[in-house]
Amino acid sequence: MSYPSVDAALKALRDLEAKISAYNHALGVLSLDAATAAPKDTAEGRGRTMGVLSQVVYDLLANSNNAALAEHLEAHKEALDPAARRELQLFRREFQKLSRIPAKEYVDYQILVNDAQAVWEDAKNQNDFQRFLPYLEKIVEANRRFAGYYDPQKAPYDALLNEYEPGLTMQTLDRFFDQLRAAIVPLIAKIKAAPAIDDGFLFRHYPKADQERLSDRLMEILGIDRSHCGIAETEHPFTTEFNTKDVRITTHYYEDNLVSSLYSVIHEGGHALYELGGNPAYDGTFLAGGVSMGIHESQSRFYENLIGRSKPFLTYLFPILREYFPRQLADVTADEFYRAVNKAQPSLIRTEADELTYCMHIMVRYELEKRLISGELAPKEVPQAWNRLYKEYLGLDVPDDRQGCLQDSHWAGGAIGYFPSYALGSAYGAQMLSCIERDVPDLWNRVEQGDLSPVTAWLGSHIHRYGSLYEPKELFERACGPFDPDSYTRYLTEKYTALYQL
Ligand code: ZN
Repeated sequence: MSYPSVDAALKALRDLEAKISAYNHALGVLSLDAATAAPKDTAEGRGRTMGVLSQVVYDLLANSNNAALAEHLEAHKEALDPAARRELQLFRREFQKLSRIPAKEYVDYQILVNDAQAVWEDAKNQNDFQRFLPYLEKIVEANRRFAGYYDPQKAPYDALLNEYEPGLTMQTLDRFFDQLRAAIVPLIAKIKAAPAIDDGFLFRHYPKADQERLSDRLMEILGIDRSHCGIAETEHPFTTEFNTKDVRITTHYYEDNLVSSLYSVIHEGGHALYELGGNPAYDGTFLAGGVSMGIHESQSRFYENLIGRSKPFLTYLFPILREYFPRQLADVTADEFYRAVNKAQPSLIRTEADELTYCMHIMVRYELEKRLISGELAPKEVPQAWNRLYKEYLGLDVPDDRQGCLQDSHWAGGAIGYFPSYALGSAYGAQMLSCIERDVPDLWNRVEQGDLSPVTAWLGSHIHRYGSLYEPKELFERACGPFDPDSYTRYLTEKYTALYQL
């Protein structure tokens, strides 16, 4: 392949991007259908179709003609504008990575993680780690191998981390988690000695139909345009994006729990705002969509915790909740509600953890992943090591693997190196909040009026609109300066000291 001009090469790249994006769109719709609407026994045909489409995406990207295209554009790099240069960088990165993975290994791995997810679900339901073990062994082994394909220069676990957060290293994380542990562990100990907060009223009967109406109201408060963002119910809440005009979120309703869905909607709403706020010109290119999991979680956890669990926001929200649930909340005050949704207590399940103890759950997984990938820890030793760390970090005895190492789907899905982005995102968010407070002096008055527009405007102009234009580190530094976990530890310390009067 040769190209008569830079423009011709750029057009070839854009055509390729449009094709890949179209197939991914179709794959995304199929996944969404599987999780939301498809009847139970329909996986077989869908699996076949998805296999074919995935193969097409692989062939489009791993195509040997792409080497010439990348080379041509690289040779004429100075003729490209900065956005096109970044597009080229992302294209080359994906192409080189995929070209290094032998086609058979790639396909085998897709089949492996597909099978593993079904096995994991059974194993979790039956509390049977041994059933999942052979899959975990193969997934760890494959990830150790893939790390070498992704980036042979890097330590294998660093290469895996970079799949979710480009530029992140164990060195950064070790320091970050040490600092976090030093702040959080004493707080948890002090809270344990303080009088417990009563949150019993959150677990009264909250009919699903009323919770659904509340979700609509929350979407309105978040400022999400429903003509561009759907909401459905699934087992586990998630967000999926097709382009800046079409994003879908999901939640899960529990009739004996008011806040599970409430905070899922706000969390996924934060992901949705990030995607909806992207530059439409990037749709269908490698520049589209959130740049990394860490930045994505910084947005979702921002709305969920920094706003959604703040006193000003709950001062606004509580009377609205009472409109929907007048009987259930008749004897509750706004202050009691604020305290209840911020109750901190070491617990076994990550997804149900409070804002303070959440990162301890991440640290357990981080420690285990590091050791699994370095080979220090064998997959068969995971349950014991898991339980030991829960005792050490959270002071808890894990009664069974169902509530222990089998609780999350990430490893079954092949996602090793993903977990740290949740903690990193929380810390990114806290630092962004300091910047917003500086730039918007009446921020909290506005939030107390239910006006989130200054928040979304700030995040929109500093983060959302850039899509994947910058590496996460650069994006963050342009918005907030160098990353400093101090904002986060200070935020947690101040919030929980006041809440529990420590
Ligand atoms: Zn999330």
